[in-house]
Amino acid sequence: MDSDFITEVERAFGDSRDDALMQRAGEIIKKGGLVAIPTETVYGLAGNALDPESSKRIYAAKGRPSDNPLIVHIAEFDALGPIVREIPEKARLLAEKYWPGPLTMIFKKSDRVPKETTGGLDTVAVRMPVNKTALSFIKAAGGYIAAPSANSSGRPSCTTAAHVYEDLCGKIPLIIDGGDVGIGLESTIVDMTGDVPVLLRPGYISHSQLEEVLGTVLIDPNVNGAELGGDIRPKAPGMKYKHYAPRGELYIVKGGEQACTDRINSECRIHKERGETAAVICLNTEVEKYTADVVSSLGNTYEDAAHNLFRCLREMDEKKIEYMYIRAFDGEGLGMALMNRIVRAAGHKFIEV
Ligand code: AMP
Ligand code: MG
Repeated sequence: MDSDFITEVERAFGDSRDDALMQRAGEIIKKGGLVAIPTETVYGLAGNALDPESSKRIYAAKGRPSDNPLIVHIAEFDALGPIVREIPEKARLLAEKYWPGPLTMIFKKSDRVPKETTGGLDTVAVRMPVNKTALSFIKAAGGYIAAPSANSSGRPSCTTAAHVYEDLCGKIPLIIDGGDVGIGLESTIVDMTGDVPVLLRPGYISHSQLEEVLGTVLIDPNVNGAELGGDIRPKAPGMKYKHYAPRGELYIVKGGEQACTDRINSECRIHKERGETAAVICLNTEVEKYTADVVSSLGNTYEDAAHNLFRCLREMDEKKIEYMYIRAFDGEGLGMALMNRIVRAAGHKFIEV
């Protein structure tokens, strides 16, 4: 289905100027089609979550393995009841605090949600975004939108409409351009189906923020990067696949500051001698330390890094960089979320110094 559509890109403003556009986008969804939308985390590729054929189209457009489930997006809390078997008290508390927002919760699904949407699982992931354009789009489209990240499967998620166009041009009829996204990393995912909630994917909302509301929250062992075998069906199936990956080889360098700097500089020198292209990805404060020809800054803070990481990885592809080096992020919160993404982008390649 490489060029089934002429892909239009339409600007949205998040207010009443968008009414006609929302109407048109909603109609596309109701007819089983797909539309890319902005959210506060990353751009999403939206289809009707309750229509198995729509979900199949999402998997096809992304080239996504069909056992990697989709997140269902809703625009109001009352929409949750019909698609889940129960709403645990703890989920209610978390929703009160963090919905709308960058938080996805896993519930036992009701029969309303087709298995095509949940990758064959009996559970469903649900999120209520805070982005105004996303909310009015969900309402216009019937209330239940399956929306995985709008990148081609395996590539870095999209933080601008231009990234979406790069990946999905010809595969969908419409991209809604809401400008640069705010956060830049996908939502935090928490499994609420057991007695104790489990963090499956770290994001902007941190483990300690979850524990403030819920008490103990376990961290799934795969969050920090363990490798999974082919037959395992992990709780957050996206974890099984190489993800967010640039075309070149990314290495994560772990260890003391000076040792990391020395090692990265020497690796880049060796690449240069061999006629290979190499780059360092780092925070602004570190740029001066590196001698590579390409040193790309993620900004001053971890917030900046979250915002810029996927764009930076895509730029590495544009610059045809063959080898990239990044120092491990540390800490809880965004450090954990950033680390989770780069471990996958690197295909678990570490250099310990
Ligand atoms: P993306 O839409 O690209 O942000 O990826 C969505 C991710 O949500 C998937 O890769 C899964 O890891 C996770 N997910 C969706 N539904 C479920 C579910 N029912 N149980 C566990 N994880 C889920
Ligand atoms: Mg994704």
